[in-house]
Amino acid sequence: MWRYFQNKKDEFVRKILRPVPEDFFSFETGEPFEVCIECKSDITGPNSDYIIEKAWQDDELIYEYALCESCCRDLRGEMSKESMKYLKKALRKPVLKTTIDGCRCCGLPRLELPGYTLIGSCLGREMIFWNVPVLICEPCLAIIAEGLSKQTRDIMDDFEERNFPGPPEAEIDLPKPRRKVVLM
Ligand SMILES: [Zn+2]
Ligand SMILES: [Zn+2]
Repeated sequence: MWRYFQNKKDEFVRKILRPVPEDFFSFETGEPFEVCIECKSDITGPNSDYIIEKAWQDDELIYEYALCESCCRDLRGEMSKESMKYLKKALRKPVLKTTIDGCRCCGLPRLELPGYTLIGSCLGREMIFWNVPVLICEPCLAIIAEGLSKQTRDIMDDFEERNFPGPPEAEIDLPKPRRKVVLM
């Protein structure tokens, strides 16, 4: 029985897989992502599950990363239950679905948005087209972030500091970088 479901699942997954689009390539290398930002494991194998998040502001890439399923699970496990529930609820009624042409939450077209985050879910060299990929605009992300618990925001801050340490001079000259929301 289990095998039957597993086969059905595999069949379904194959149907919704397409090669990773260039929008989700690493800006740094111009190629698909190859390692998890946290554990540095290789994510190119056909069975590796991972997410990609890329944030843009005024045509400038703010950050990008790929995060493997196992690291994702660890992070999610640390986040408060209330926050996980809240996130699910906040993203429940999408205006746009499975597209990065506009914001999932408010529907504004990508071309009119100065700041936004792209989120996709992949399996090896392919991207899963099922609910994801999505684009969420900066104002919508800010609204979502406001509803997160302190515990969850601290975890996101730690993730950010660990993986995107700014140059030392940035601490003096620049205003605090905007919060990076990890949506999974
Ligand atoms: Zn990892
Ligand atoms: Zn929006």
